[in-house]
Formats: sequence, C-alpha cells, structure tokens
Amino acid sequence: MAPLPKRKRSKSRRGHRASHFAAPKATLGVCPQCRNPKLSHMVCKVCGTYAGRQVIKVAAE
Ligand SMILES: [Zn+2]
Repeated sequence: MAPLPKRKRSKSRRGHRASHFAAPKATLGVCPQCRNPKLSHMVCKVCGTYAGRQVIKVAAE
C-alpha cells in the first residue's frame, strides 16, 4: 500500500499553498519606435520593429 496523508489539508492550508500558483505578470515595455506598450524582448506588433530595425510586415503603417 502506498503511503497516504494522515489528515485532509484544511481549506486554509490549501489556500496558503495556492497563493503562489499565479503566473507572474508579463513585463511591459514601451516601443522606442511608436511609443506603444509592448512585451519586452518581443517584436512590436504595432510597427513590426525590434532593436531599431523592421522585422515583420505590418498592414497599417
Ligand atoms: Zn512599435
């Protein structure tokens, strides 16, 4: 027989453990090209630039 916990974990104890389950908030930066908020280390979806150069084509420019 496999070892089993002796007692049920109370709602309080479960909640205390679950308080660390939330994913961290993504860090938002500002695009130096168009000043729109963008995810850091990601291509800007508004103007399609990364590190000062065009990387992807964007419909509206
Ligand atoms: Zn941009």
